[in-house]
Amino acid sequence: MDGTDLDDIPELFPALASYGRTTTLLNWLPANPGPHESSLGGPILWPAEEPWPVCTQKHGHVAETGELVESPPGSGQMFTRSAFMEKDETGEPEPHLVAVLQLRAEDVPALRFPAGRDLLQLLWCPALHVEGGIQAPRLYWRDSVAIGKTLDSHPPLRRSQAEYVPYPCAPQAETVLDFPHSADLPEEVFEDLFGSAEDPEEAEETYDDLLACRWSDKAGGYAYCTQRSCRPVCEGCGGEMELLVQLFSQRRFADDVRIQADALAKAGIDPSSLSDPGSRISFGRMERMAVFGCFTCPNQPIVHDVQ
Ligand SMILES: [Zn+2]
Ligand SMILES: [Zn+2]
Repeated sequence: MDGTDLDDIPELFPALASYGRTTTLLNWLPANPGPHESSLGGPILWPAEEPWPVCTQKHGHVAETGELVESPPGSGQMFTRSAFMEKDETGEPEPHLVAVLQLRAEDVPALRFPAGRDLLQLLWCPALHVEGGIQAPRLYWRDSVAIGKTLDSHPPLRRSQAEYVPYPCAPQAETVLDFPHSADLPEEVFEDLFGSAEDPEEAEETYDDLLACRWSDKAGGYAYCTQRSCRPVCEGCGGEMELLVQLFSQRRFADDVRIQADALAKAGIDPSSLSDPGSRISFGRMERMAVFGCFTCPNQPIVHDVQ
């Protein structure tokens, strides 16, 4: 089912109409983006007088212990046990955050920007954390006109893990309608949609798999959730936070034929010409990161969710 079909949903299911939100799907193509462009893993416009952020959490690395273990037990297969070692006693400088994403407002119509801002920048820590988990991403809203002199190049990465440093890609953007997870629909809408289906449970599953919370890197819309709804509430004002961006692990072109084949065709790119495409971000066993923001609170807080 492509974007055009989804745009017909309000007509086919009037009960859903008022729940549609636009989302800008971001299909990433290998590129050499410039600092003024939208990109994943590309250079960003960073004010020359503003210090580049560093991560002050405790970091570590994975080291081999030399100890041999049989895994699974009884299999006869021997591996060297690896262990997570803390590394902060070495006196190495704190890691610089890595620029992950820059989005220009004109490229992502579905994303709301604060007044006077036209650039979103997302950075995160590329090193391994002793506490585990992904470093809370930091988000900056900027005015690209008022930004003044910018850095010529980003500072070098330190202690970075390859899976947290995206390869440079440019977006092929498509703005479509997105719908909420079935668990978030009011009872009467839920009943209207699934109540008369031959197998209501199957109908609900199909809805969540195909229509709700688009499974794609995207800006705006509803966050994709593996099992349940995820719509965080702002600690400051108690309002629902809005999805800003969603990024998946290992965005490889072959992974999502439905979306990527279309994007590649539109860009006139032969998939077989791509030797190692995609952003190559990985959140380990986790599938996707979503970043939510509040536009009501004056400091525009964000939260992130990895699942
Ligand atoms: Zn860190
Ligand atoms: Zn708030």
